[in-house]
Amino acid sequence: MIALDRRILQYLLTTLFLFLALSHASAETNHRTTPPEYFVLITLDGVRDIELFAGLHQETFKTSKKDKSWETDPLYQSLWAPSPEARRLKLMPFFWGEWMKKHGFVMGNPSKGSSVMLRNRHRFSYPGYSEILTGQARDKIIHSNDEIQNPAPTLLEFFKSSWNLNHDQTAVFASWQTIRFISEHRHGSMFINAGHASYSSENPLIQQLSKLQFETKTPWDSVRHDAYTMAFCKDYVTQHLPRVLYLSLGETDDWAHDSRYDRVLQALHQSDKYLQDLWSFYQSNEQTRDNTCFIITTDHGRGDNIYNWMHHNDKLDGAKRIWLAIISPTLKQRGELSGHPEIFADQIASTAAMIFGLNYAQQDPDAGEAMRFLLE
Ligand SMILES: [Zn+2]
Repeated sequence: MIALDRRILQYLLTTLFLFLALSHASAETNHRTTPPEYFVLITLDGVRDIELFAGLHQETFKTSKKDKSWETDPLYQSLWAPSPEARRLKLMPFFWGEWMKKHGFVMGNPSKGSSVMLRNRHRFSYPGYSEILTGQARDKIIHSNDEIQNPAPTLLEFFKSSWNLNHDQTAVFASWQTIRFISEHRHGSMFINAGHASYSSENPLIQQLSKLQFETKTPWDSVRHDAYTMAFCKDYVTQHLPRVLYLSLGETDDWAHDSRYDRVLQALHQSDKYLQDLWSFYQSNEQTRDNTCFIITTDHGRGDNIYNWMHHNDKLDGAKRIWLAIISPTLKQRGELSGHPEIFADQIASTAAMIFGLNYAQQDPDAGEAMRFLLE
C-alpha cells in the first residue's frame, strides 16, 4: 500500500516537473501560436521619433531654457547621456529596458532606415487618431479637430462586434475630450471617459480624484492631466477587465504647443511609468498574462528643428513621421526593426485585427493592408 502510494507520488512529481519545465520553456521563448484574447491600444499624443529613439534633444533643451543655466538644470542632468541609446533609456526606462528588450518591437527610427508615416496630409490630432482607429485617411471629410462623431466605424467597434462584447467590455480612457467622438461611429456603443469627465467608482480615493480633476485645471480647455486618465483607467481595468482597452494620453502634445520642452520630457517620462504600471497589472492577472497584445503609437510627429518643434501641420515634414510599437505573445521580433517596407498609420487597424486572427477587410475593404511581414 505504502509502495503504491510512493509510486503514485513519484509519477505525480515527475508530471509536475515536466509541466513546470515546459511552461518555463514557453515563458522563455515568450511565443505562442493561438491569438491573444485581450487588446490594449495606447497613444501618446504628438511624441516625436527624435525623443522616442534618442531621448532628450540637447539643442532643443538649450534653446527652450531662456536662462543660461541649462547644463546645471536637474532635469537635464537626470536625462542627459552622450549616446542616443543611453539617453532614451533614461527618458523611457521601462519602454527600452523591459518592453523592447524582452517582449516587443518598435518601428520608425529614421536612422535605422525604418519608416512609419501618416497617410493623412493634415498632420494633426483628429485626422491622425481617425487614421489609426479606422484604417483610412479621410482628408476631405476629416479636416479639423471639431467634435463630430467619427464618420466611419472604428477598430474598437470592429473588435466589439467580432467578439460580441457588451458595452462595458470595450473601454476608452482619454485626456483629450474629443477622443470621445473619434473612438466610435455609433454613439454610446462603448464605455468612454474622456477629458474633464466624472468617473464613478466604489473606491473612495478614486471618487476623490474624480472631484479633484475639476479643481486642478490644466492650461488647456479640452485636456485634463494624464494622471487622472491613468488613475480612472487602472481602476476600471481592475474592476471590469475589458477585452478591449484604449488609453489615450495627451500632455506630451499640449506642453509642446506651450513651448515647455522640460514638461514634454517629464510627461513622456511619466507616460513610461504608466506603461509599466499597466503592464504589471496585465502580467500579474492570470487571465491577461501573456494573453494581451499592446499596440503603442502616436497621432502625428512635429517639426524637427529648434524653431518648429512646438508645431505640427501640413507644412512640416517632421509631423508626418510617427512610430509604432507592438508587444504580443505571438510575435517574436524584439527591439528596433529595420529593413521592412515603409508602413503607414492606416495599416494599424488591419494589423491589429491580423494579430487576433481576424480580417479587418470585413469591416472596411479599403483600409490599409495588414503588415504581413510581421508574421514571417
Ligand atoms: Zn497638437
